[in-house]
Amino acid sequence: MISAPRWNVAVIGGGPGGALAALLLARAGLRVALIERSTAPRYKVCGGCLNERGLSILNECGLGETLRSELTASLRRIVFHSAGRNMAIAGQVGAVVNRATFDAALVSAAVDAGAQLFAGATATVEPIAADATDAIAGRTIELRYANGASGLLAAELVVVADGLGSPSLRQLSEFDAVTAPDSRMGFGLLPRPSLVSDGYEPSTLRMVLADDGYLGIARLADGRFCIGAAVDAAVARQHKLHQWIADAIARCGLPEIHGLADVAIRGTRPLTRRPARTAGHRIFLLGDAAGYTEPITGEGMAWALAGAAALPPLAVAACRRWRPEFAMDWQRTLRQEVYCGQYVNRFLAAVLRRPRYARPVFAAAAAFPGFAAPVVRRLNRPQSVARIAA
Ligand SMILES: Cc1cc2nc3c(=O)[nH]c(=O)nc-3n(C[C@H](O)[C@H](O)[C@H](O)COP(=O)(O)OP(=O)(O)OC[C@H]3O[C@@H](n4cnc5c(N)ncnc54)[C@H](O)[C@@H]3O)c2cc1C
Repeated sequence: MISAPRWNVAVIGGGPGGALAALLLARAGLRVALIERSTAPRYKVCGGCLNERGLSILNECGLGETLRSELTASLRRIVFHSAGRNMAIAGQVGAVVNRATFDAALVSAAVDAGAQLFAGATATVEPIAADATDAIAGRTIELRYANGASGLLAAELVVVADGLGSPSLRQLSEFDAVTAPDSRMGFGLLPRPSLVSDGYEPSTLRMVLADDGYLGIARLADGRFCIGAAVDAAVARQHKLHQWIADAIARCGLPEIHGLADVAIRGTRPLTRRPARTAGHRIFLLGDAAGYTEPITGEGMAWALAGAAALPPLAVAACRRWRPEFAMDWQRTLRQEVYCGQYVNRFLAAVLRRPRYARPVFAAAAAFPGFAAPVVRRLNRPQSVARIAA
């Protein structure tokens, strides 16, 4: 039996989802512990494109000014490239962010709002003892630090925003994730100034589509490249990702990027992972932890932020008095308000994995961009926080 929790909420993960959740819950008057295993700033494999929906959520949460210096590189155009064909979609589509400093700025805004940060602590949610009753006032989380120190933390509610595969839930079999057999692997290049090229104007996201993967290329305000990709597992296993990038770029006739071979690459787990459930006893999942869908034009951060924006009403009620139906309520909120529209990404990701279909679909879209543009705009469209959290 645990003693009375000192924390109303423990948020695990200081990415966009966890940081915004901690901030909003602290603003709602809850005592919030924000646990992040790395010490900031940390690199995250990502193309760095925050879409218009993500931007609108941050603005509605009053963070536009706080994050102004992180949001200076605006994106106005997406160009898809595939084997010599191009399709450009213009319009306000978001901003390119440096994930190391953007995430750190959000975490720091959460701390300013009253959340307490446990940095460098890896969290594991402990199972509930078999003899425990629902007199339990909360859940226990084990914290482990790199220097070997450890400790326990108790909270009335745990918000799991620890990214792909939800590692903090590894002791809770009811959340075991399922990985799709044809899942692609993600990777990203650290945004180093040593990467140079004459082409690639700043306000454009270039999506390079190949039979065995795709690549996003954008530029930060200071000109550094933001490069992220998803490739078939067979490509990842060959350990020739620098060459794969260079070849994919060359096949599309895009300018060479010099210095690729000298920049470190970071990889991810298989991307298409989904936990068996997105809520449990005093536990809500959000962001990539709640299931990963490929962000074809940069939607991942926006989904994580939308999940955080939806959280306060239910989290406040759950901390007041937990009821089992809250778990169902959260799963429904995620499905209906946050992840609505993901079917478009799943469909596009499935098409992209099948070159036989991808080529004619792309050729048709390139020939009639008037049909493709509304799909991309739908993925990006702003969404009101009041509507998400209603
Ligand atoms: C190749 C690639 C390109 C992408 N490009 C884009 C893009 O251009 N635009 C876009 O919007 N999205 C993109 N995404 C998706 C995007 O990166 C994610 O959807 C987004 O980061 C999810 O945010 P999150 O807060 O859920 O999780 P994360 O950003 O993954 O944050 C999770 C945090 O939890 C911490 N953590 C993990 N385990 C523990 C633990 N046990 N204890 C404590 N802390 C822990 C991690 O250190 C991390 O800081 C891309 C993804 C990939 C793989």
